Amino acid sequence: MKDSTQAAPMSYGWCSWHQAAAAGVRLINFQEQGSGPGGGTFACGTCIETHGLIPFEDQPCTPVL
Ligand SMILES: [Zn+2]
Repeated sequence: MKDSTQAAPMSYGWCSWHQAAAAGVRLINFQEQGSGPGGGTFACGTCIETHGLIPFEDQPCTPVL
């Protein structure tokens, strides 16, 4: 172990907002209008703050019916 100060493990993934791989991406329940990736998209922490996104896990339980 060369880095004992590492924080909680972060998930690597593709940030759909800045179009690049990033650490600590979160699933964003964002509905693309028109063309775009369907289903869930991921955003990194920076983009979440920049765009005011709400991680799927942090969203309140709202009925979608
Ligand atoms: Zn991003």
